[in-house]
Amino acid sequence: MSLDYQQYLSKTAIDLAPSGIRKFFDLAASMEGVISLGVGEPDFITPWNIRESSIEALKDGYTSYTANAGLLELRQEISAYLNRKFYVNYRPEDQVIVTVGASQSLDLAFRALLNQGDEVLIIEPAFVSYAALVTMAGGTPIRIAAKVENGFKVTPEQIEAAITDRTKAILLCSPNNPTGTYLNKDELMDIAKIVQKHDLLVVSDEIYAELTYDEEYTSIASIPGMYERTILINGFSKGFAMTGWRLGFLAAPSELVEVMIKIYQYTTMCAPHMLQRGAIEALRNSSEHVEKMQRSYRRRRNFIVQSLNNIGLDCHTPGGAFYVFPSIQKTGLSSDAFAEGLLLQEKVAVVPGNAFGDSGEGYIRCSYAASIEQLQEAMNRIGRFVESVGVKKSN
Ligand code: PMP
Repeated sequence: MSLDYQQYLSKTAIDLAPSGIRKFFDLAASMEGVISLGVGEPDFITPWNIRESSIEALKDGYTSYTANAGLLELRQEISAYLNRKFYVNYRPEDQVIVTVGASQSLDLAFRALLNQGDEVLIIEPAFVSYAALVTMAGGTPIRIAAKVENGFKVTPEQIEAAITDRTKAILLCSPNNPTGTYLNKDELMDIAKIVQKHDLLVVSDEIYAELTYDEEYTSIASIPGMYERTILINGFSKGFAMTGWRLGFLAAPSELVEVMIKIYQYTTMCAPHMLQRGAIEALRNSSEHVEKMQRSYRRRRNFIVQSLNNIGLDCHTPGGAFYVFPSIQKTGLSSDAFAEGLLLQEKVAVVPGNAFGDSGEGYIRCSYAASIEQLQEAMNRIGRFVESVGVKKSN
């Protein structure tokens, strides 16, 4: 007997839009010889000293649960790291939680903050999980479209216009996925003024903070008056090339941490013990590796931006992360048609920009976390594809 599963499933879960990224992953995975600029993860393997620490931890029998918030020793390292890199002070004892990826920190933040119908401002194009996480926590995502002419940044006026008496928080992601856009101190100060004026909180996704290429990173939590209003989220996935470890963390005022830790305790308990030991090593002894990866991404960014512009796809120079977000409008194709055509015709996987919100239509996301040789070959193929569909020359 087959059951009618629809009647058992939650309406919220059924109504979630499937991720526009998955679709292309699946198609690309079924083909041979594909160069993928689709995935959002480093092409480096985690530095050996970090892996070795976790191997040793396993050998030494570190297989139990840890404190819900994570090993105190790791929280102490996180606190020291946040202080030395971003000039913010968080007490390891009651202001830091080690989570299962930055993803889970985001989930905890929204579940702790939102009542049914509370609004969260999301600047699009945005990471695919944001709106879904807000919705699952009972909130309403309010999308603000960042425009290419503003370097994919929102203006203070746009933010003000989106605020209502239900607005609880604004979600910031700098450097941004998918555009790579980086918000500098002055831009963050402008946003901070509005946040304070309207008595909001900020959920600050700083997962790409290690990957900024032109200036030193500023965390919004370090801006006067913002420490008390910020849930700072970061992790090991991107800067330390540790996506599969599923380790992230959040830092926030203790009154917020106290509530988030309750949710964490009931849902997850703690992050894996032996992996937390590797994360301690990551924060203590890996800055050289991180800087080396950062230099490599910078070279690739410069290469890909120049190549795409030469091909005729207008591409701004992003300040961070490992993505570029070129316009494909001159080809006259939709984002979906471009990505699908490119994959089928030339075997290069990219993500259509509309996967990151409606304002991403007319763009594609290319990740440059691939070797220079792969990037060169991908650019040849993209060049051929664009030539075959034709571009309207700008005047
Ligand atoms: N935030 C952004 C903007 C991301 O791009 C990603 C990963 N693609 C995450 C959060 C999730 O990171 P983690 O692997 O730490 O869960």
